[in-house]
Amino acid sequence: MSDSYTRPKGTQDLLPGDQAYWDFVRATVVDLARAYGFERIDTPLFEETALFARGVGEATDIVEKEMYSFRDKGERELTLRPEFTAGVVRAYIENGLRVLPKPVKLYSMGPAFRYEQPQAGRYRQFHQFNAEIFGIEDPLADLEIMLLAWDIYAALGFQNLSFQLNSTGCPKCRPEYVATLASYYHAHAGEICEDCQRRLETNPLRVLDCKQRQCQPIIEAAPKITDHLCEECRQHFERLRGHLDDLGKPYTINSRLVRGLDYYTKTVFEVWAEGIGAQSAVCGGGRYDGLMELLDGPPTPAVGFAAGLERAVLVMQHQQVEPPALPIPPVYVAYLDKRTRSRAVQLLVRIREAGIGAQIAMSGSLRSQLRHADKRGARFVLILGEDELDRGEVTVKDLGSEGAQQAVPLAEIVPWLEARLEEA
Ligand code: AMP
Repeated sequence: MSDSYTRPKGTQDLLPGDQAYWDFVRATVVDLARAYGFERIDTPLFEETALFARGVGEATDIVEKEMYSFRDKGERELTLRPEFTAGVVRAYIENGLRVLPKPVKLYSMGPAFRYEQPQAGRYRQFHQFNAEIFGIEDPLADLEIMLLAWDIYAALGFQNLSFQLNSTGCPKCRPEYVATLASYYHAHAGEICEDCQRRLETNPLRVLDCKQRQCQPIIEAAPKITDHLCEECRQHFERLRGHLDDLGKPYTINSRLVRGLDYYTKTVFEVWAEGIGAQSAVCGGGRYDGLMELLDGPPTPAVGFAAGLERAVLVMQHQQVEPPALPIPPVYVAYLDKRTRSRAVQLLVRIREAGIGAQIAMSGSLRSQLRHADKRGARFVLILGEDELDRGEVTVKDLGSEGAQQAVPLAEIVPWLEARLEEA
């Protein structure tokens, strides 16, 4: 037996030193989502297992291999969410959000869980920002989703961004393409990997994103879905590309991009950024016009994307994007001994009541308190000793200007601090 506990495989502790990155990423995505008219929705961390089996697709890697499923004490079959969209669509139906004026633009953010093989940028508990637009068939909604994704990474300061773009067709044109793809693959049955032989039966489109070396030449020469789109899908794709061209947004048509979830129709896309090696997709999404009906809701076109927050932080670190420093309480209250301590606590509370961030020394000599204040990054140390108290004063040491010291009447300390902090 090990003599200490460790975190479960594939999870991370986000320590205080990591939090400036996380705060910056979270604040950036939320600010942009709000500025673009998206409203927040929060759904449970777990849902009925059947929701994901249906919504994500029985034959996907997620449902086949990656779900954290369990039975609760009431014999309910539940699963920690492996992605957000199925839960958001369930909530849309259950809460009657169909009555809202269209488009309904929603975002959510939080942890998701997949039993994957952990590696850089791939975890078992990870965090996603998720955005969706419901009720609009027009490619303008696809564009809006793609712009939000793009602008998030631009606002985070990433360089070398690009869109990968494809269409996965619709129930009208996809079956014919899948049949063409399958017969092409059957002709090469001897050359493809075992997984692809299996995928060919269960989920043929997925052969296109196989990573096995032996399958690469077969994929390269495979028929492309964009050559087999029906008129509606073709026009949709063209109009979306037209919008992107007009805006000068760089994109690469990637006919291997099919994405791991079954629910996509028409548009699929990813944003790639330099910095996480093989895991270069920082986000991915697309259109899923059939999902609402599949989950027994009213037919409702929809388009959305999910962005991994860990990957955003990794890219920031790789591209040396520094997040803004987290705010530090500017005031630190120090005291000489036990006798002056209770007056120091009163002073602390007064300063906090005025809305100024402050902390108090909790142990040590005055010298070590001052050292601690410096390490914590405080601007002003207020020192209370017997002499100062007798004179109704407090000594203020300004760590921001080489430790200059001055006495300030206790009665005036709050306005004094307010004035100095305003200048800063
Ligand atoms: P998906 O839901 O698979 O379309 O993934 C959308 C985004 O979520 C990806 O582009 C990643 O940024 C992130 N993501 C997906 N799976 C993981 C994982 N296991 N660990 C970390 N990030 C992930």
